[in-house]
Amino acid sequence: SKVPPKILNNGVEMPQLGFGVWQVPDDEAERAVVTALEAGYRSIDTAAIYGNEAGTGKAIAASGVPREDIFVTTKLWNADQGYDATLRAFDASLAKLGLDYLDLYLIHWPLPARGKFIDSYKAFEQLLTDGLVKAIGVSNFLPEHLERLLEETSVIPAVNQIELHPHLQQHASREFHDEQGIATEAWSPLGQGKGLLEVPAIVAIAQKHNRTPAQVVLRWHIQLGNVVIPKSVTPSRIKENIAVFDFSLDTEDLAAISALNEDRRIGPDPATFDMG
Ligand code: NAD
Repeated sequence: SKVPPKILNNGVEMPQLGFGVWQVPDDEAERAVVTALEAGYRSIDTAAIYGNEAGTGKAIAASGVPREDIFVTTKLWNADQGYDATLRAFDASLAKLGLDYLDLYLIHWPLPARGKFIDSYKAFEQLLTDGLVKAIGVSNFLPEHLERLLEETSVIPAVNQIELHPHLQQHASREFHDEQGIATEAWSPLGQGKGLLEVPAIVAIAQKHNRTPAQVVLRWHIQLGNVVIPKSVTPSRIKENIAVFDFSLDTEDLAAISALNEDRRIGPDPATFDMG
């Protein structure tokens, strides 16, 4: 595949660009994921709460792509935190996906007020020891949550998947991850496609390179070293979003995009989010 790997801190290779399936209904997920696999994607990002692990698993089975060539991520939902509940939720996710191992398992949200992420992560460490997952990590963890995790558990998370796009550049988290050897994975890398793709600076860079605004934003992430998982159910956009490895942004382009930071979230604040 033309997508370069990101080498995780345990040596596992994760494609630097994958396919996200949030908000894709289960009965549409199979077609979308097959389209993505045909377009060359080899990494799929789902979650128990997305309700489409079954459709995702069907696509993987139907695609004809060998299992070992696909990097599959799913996430532990909030209601399933705690040591035993995590192990049960993992079994349920694996069964829905129709797989016998997972590439990456993430704690979906830290829920600091519930105080269960340490126990949940200890169950993840057991799954790693048992060979049922190739890598373990977290999502939506702030540096303060990671600090606690690093103090109280033994496996450094391979990945922290956080909201990250030009309007929310996450400098503090990215610096902390780099210091600790944690890969930064960007969710909503396109800012959910809303205003971001019409920002004049991004449109101008797209015109300069004869690319689309989405490709410019994804290329910015790639050059920063982020793992990205753009979502689309439109076949032409699915293809467009992976075609970002045959051009480069120059220093001036990167500086213009860096200037767009507003520290503005689309999604919830992980310090207080406590749903599910
Ligand atoms: P995204 O930034 O990938 O944007 C997706 C939207 O952008 C699409 O629905 C479409 O409207 C538009 N779009 C996509 N490609 C386009 C193109 N080429 N041109 C124009 N518009 C385009 O947003 P997302 O789906 O929120 O995030 C991506 C993935 O991240 C999700 O599918 C999911 O896997 C993951 N995610 C994780 C969390 C978490 O809490 N861990 C939260 C949100 C999303």
